[in-house]
Amino acid sequence: MKTSVLISGAGVGGSTLAYWLADNGFQVTVVERAGAQRSSGNPVDVRGPAVDVVNRMGVLPELRKAATSVDRISFVDAKGAVRASVRTGGTSDGAGEEVELPRAELAAILLDAARDRAEIRWGDTITGLTDDGQRVAATFAESAPATYDYVIGADGLHSGVRRLVFGEEREFVRHKGFYVATLPIERALGREREVIMYNTPGRSVSVHPAGGKPLAAFIFRGPETPDYDYRDTAQHKRLVLAAYTGRMGAFGDLLDQVGAAPDLYFDAVCQVRMASWSRGRVALLGDAGSSLSLFGDGSTLAITGAHTLAEELTRTPADPHTAFTRYEHRHRRLLAPKQRGFRLAGALMVPASRPGILARDTVVRLLPRI
Ligand SMILES: Cc1cc2nc3c(=O)[nH]c(=O)nc-3n(C[C@H](O)[C@H](O)[C@H](O)COP(=O)(O)OP(=O)(O)OC[C@H]3O[C@@H](n4cnc5c(N)ncnc54)[C@H](O)[C@@H]3O)c2cc1C
Repeated sequence: MKTSVLISGAGVGGSTLAYWLADNGFQVTVVERAGAQRSSGNPVDVRGPAVDVVNRMGVLPELRKAATSVDRISFVDAKGAVRASVRTGGTSDGAGEEVELPRAELAAILLDAARDRAEIRWGDTITGLTDDGQRVAATFAESAPATYDYVIGADGLHSGVRRLVFGEEREFVRHKGFYVATLPIERALGREREVIMYNTPGRSVSVHPAGGKPLAAFIFRGPETPDYDYRDTAQHKRLVLAAYTGRMGAFGDLLDQVGAAPDLYFDAVCQVRMASWSRGRVALLGDAGSSLSLFGDGSTLAITGAHTLAEELTRTPADPHTAFTRYEHRHRRLLAPKQRGFRLAGALMVPASRPGILARDTVVRLLPRI
């Protein structure tokens, strides 16, 4: 009989894991809370070792087709005049390819690669998990209960599997002093391949062309909001308006669009830190166990983590302790240096003061590439 694996979340990591486990002969079920695949989302990067993984899945050409092809970020003043500008993408020696594309499109392409070999259930979530040491019994919001050899939580920053098996979110999720809001807008600013960013102290607003589906992003500094609820859109709009009203320079119409936005994405910028990513026959993957926040290589790490986890489960399919220990040991080596990059990325993207903005612009002018 095939070893069965239930994956919660058809995002970047869950879809990659579904592909590689199915490819290695596992029986895979994916349960995804969203009702259907989406086609846009925040641009994310696939780079370094993740490029090799997606290439071996045969989807690199599709990723390239969906790429935003952004090649420049320009920092502008309140009137929209460019203060500093820098080329982005790839490495300066041309050795490392990187592809930037909308997150939902990345997840959809990865999932399509697994679709023929894995069962995908849209619009459902896990409501309970009981691990008896031999199998894991799962109950669902929609489907009938079932048992599996393994369960993997690849369900993102606000992971349901983490809450059911490891404990409440507040034990693992650290607010990093920023918030982020993104929304689709009608037209880009600047050139076709250029991101435009405007800063005031502690705030940034940027417009990303996102391959013809332009997106505005508001990233701002702020302490933890005591009654913060990541599902409360009205509260999110209030927080953005409070942070930006009167501080938008020539970009005021973007703020008007926040109030009317039907699909505002908003969240506190958080990192997830856990001493262990597994308990018995349940393990976590990607943001669920180790979110780096938006300043980091979260997508790349979700892809490489999924590949490593599939390799280790394939190597010792009857020994979860060994498989999960080896997965964690190998993947943490990639993750650790990325966790340390947060402070610098925050200082560059959202300088806290006016001298900080001037210093950033000066550094950018001096750098040939980020
Ligand atoms: C604004 C923003 C900008 C970012 N920019 C970048 C970037 O430039 N570069 C980069 O590398 N990374 C970036 N990231 C981070 C990147 O998006 C994540 O690190 C990456 O998507 C993590 O993959 P994942 O599979 O762990 O989670 P996700 O891709 O988030 O997938 C989680 C999936 O689980 C589903 N789900 C959630 N809860 C449940 C549940 N209870 N049951 C079932 N399904 C559930 C969700 O619907 C989703 O499909 C950014 C993130 C944000 C928010």
